[in-house]
Amino acid sequence: MLADVTLPIAFDSFTYLIPKELEDRVMRGCRVVVPLGKSKIYTGVVLCTHSNTPQGVELKAIMEVLDEQPVVNEQQFRFWQWIASYYICPLGDVMKAALPGAMKPKDEKALKTATRSTRPATQSSLPCSDIATLSPLSPHQQKAMEEIGTSFQTKNVTLLHGVTSSGKTEIYIHLISKYLQEGKQVLYLLPEIALTTQITERLRRVFGDKMGVYHSKFTDAQRLTVYKRQTSDTPYQLILGVRSSIFLPFNNLGLVIIDEEHEHSYKQQEPAPRYHARSAAIMLAHMFGAKTLLGTATPSFEVYHLARKERYGYVQLTHRFRDMQLPTVEVVDTKEAKRKKLMKGAFSPRLIEVMQKALERKEQIILFQNRRGFSSFIECRQCGWVPRCPHCDVTLTLHKKSSTLTCHYCGFSTQIPEQCPACEEKRFTDIGVGTEKVEEQIAQLFEGASILRMDLDTAKTRQQYEHIISDFSNHQADILIGTQMVTKGLDFDNVSVVGILDADTMLNLPDFRSYERTFQTISQVAGRAGRNHHPGHVILQTRSADSDIIRHITTNDYWQMFYDQMTERQLFHYPPFRRLINVYLRHRDDQLLEHLATETGERLRAIFGSRVLGPERPPISRIQSLYIRKIMLKIEYQAPITQVREALLSIQSQILALPIAKNLNIYYDVDPL
Ligand code: ADP
Ligand code: ZN
Ligand code: ZN
Repeated sequence: MLADVTLPIAFDSFTYLIPKELEDRVMRGCRVVVPLGKSKIYTGVVLCTHSNTPQGVELKAIMEVLDEQPVVNEQQFRFWQWIASYYICPLGDVMKAALPGAMKPKDEKALKTATRSTRPATQSSLPCSDIATLSPLSPHQQKAMEEIGTSFQTKNVTLLHGVTSSGKTEIYIHLISKYLQEGKQVLYLLPEIALTTQITERLRRVFGDKMGVYHSKFTDAQRLTVYKRQTSDTPYQLILGVRSSIFLPFNNLGLVIIDEEHEHSYKQQEPAPRYHARSAAIMLAHMFGAKTLLGTATPSFEVYHLARKERYGYVQLTHRFRDMQLPTVEVVDTKEAKRKKLMKGAFSPRLIEVMQKALERKEQIILFQNRRGFSSFIECRQCGWVPRCPHCDVTLTLHKKSSTLTCHYCGFSTQIPEQCPACEEKRFTDIGVGTEKVEEQIAQLFEGASILRMDLDTAKTRQQYEHIISDFSNHQADILIGTQMVTKGLDFDNVSVVGILDADTMLNLPDFRSYERTFQTISQVAGRAGRNHHPGHVILQTRSADSDIIRHITTNDYWQMFYDQMTERQLFHYPPFRRLINVYLRHRDDQLLEHLATETGERLRAIFGSRVLGPERPPISRIQSLYIRKIMLKIEYQAPITQVREALLSIQSQILALPIAKNLNIYYDVDPL
């Protein structure tokens, strides 16, 4: 007997012999330990058993079976297959992403601990004692709740478009409770960064130990426990989790909630599978005949477009809870202020004034600057030399506290040079403003104000992150300065002022989504102001104060912004009118890569014609010593995706078969963000 086994590496599967004594135990969905190559050992999952001996290969034998019962069920296999196929990657990559680390040990030592720890008696769920009763919904919320119910009668997916603080979360809680009462399971997805103690505790108070939390920052052991629990007879009825929780086993899924649906972190960028958890979760729900609710204040164009075409249901909440006013957005023209030399670093006189008043009233302030570190880069004062990463095609970012220059792509770090290697000048100018520099400027401008900074440097771990949030909630600081991290679904009740220091860097990104993204980010961060008692005041600093997009943001006119942008998207064949597939090629040798990329481009053109753009060097054309080329395909949505995939894979194998293509790496990004 033989078994096809998928391993956590970039291949679909490998065939192994089943030793006689293991024949009874090797089953589809069970994990096995197998050798690979000369000395490697992997934990894999059995896909099937059969007796078709492949010709001309010497087969190795399965070494051990780790499970008595399958740990991957039929529905999961179908889902894995869908991901591999839609996102054009090997099944092994999907398996690697789908199972918690502790379930796929790679060496003998890890294996011993894993076999021990994966066989715990699963705890039965404790009776939920003092569970809070649901708070009654407001009339607006009640109406939205009813509309969702009606929508679900005819639509599988419904968009809940509700302004920030309109009480969406409260509606989710009521919906979850309804599905749980019907004996159905619910999956509640949140972006990584929004899954905080705040939201966990809010749900824990209502659902007690019916709820399992699945977070990528949890330890392997914790995630293993949740996974195992879902394969037991008493699985959690509610999973609150990040994107990877779509891979957990479910048996009776009735509802999927995708909160902050527009969030880009739902897309896995690196490594494969480069899946979008929203698309994948909608597919997962579909496989169970379950419903999907997408919630946001600023829908992604993809979702809003489908809602308008009535493929998805649409429910709107235009009032904040308790009819609190939405914050007023005041635009400050920094071009003008700069010309008059009135700027104090990143701060305009108006922003300083508004902040000062808030501090006097003992109210809190959030400042948003979309760049971490001290400055973007440093430059020699005499000759203009700029330190760059030796491995990537980027400048190094100055981190002043640690007096280092760091690459934000590969992590390379080095001391600030004593002198310029080109001209021996000892003085450098720092260009651009990062959160660290803003923090320094606040300290000078607002003496006595206490400051917290939240970015990838200060919030490396979950504990650090939670710490900053709880300190700020408890009013242990007056000002919170941060990157994207401060925009995500946080609920602070004493924040009256939000300052956006520079809207332009976001607007000027060379990306067809930059307006959509800027609108979303600014609305989200603005939504942190005035959530409970204080009317919120947002100061938006920009050099393009007269532009349409800034006007749409200040008037919160999502519709007009969408409408304007859609005209352009249609004209240039961008989503949601076409599906994008990026083909990436990577190699150490730039010239060879150029040649291979051109060849690949030509072969793609032979099939897809003018739908192919490139190859081109991406803005960052070298990362970790590998040069990169990108070829973009713009495919009609009606085009059969399986045929597109076949064509791509066939060209890939032609190219990889070329003798010069040794060490060439090709991969795909479907629906890239
Ligand atoms: P959103 O998810 O739309 O941003 P939330 O659900 O977080 O809004 O609600 C905003 C605030 O209003 C929260 O502090 C929440 O506790 C409160 N809130 C919302 N709905 C209710 C309700 N029905 N009863 C009591 N408080 C509510
Ligand atoms: Zn110099
Ligand atoms: Zn680098």
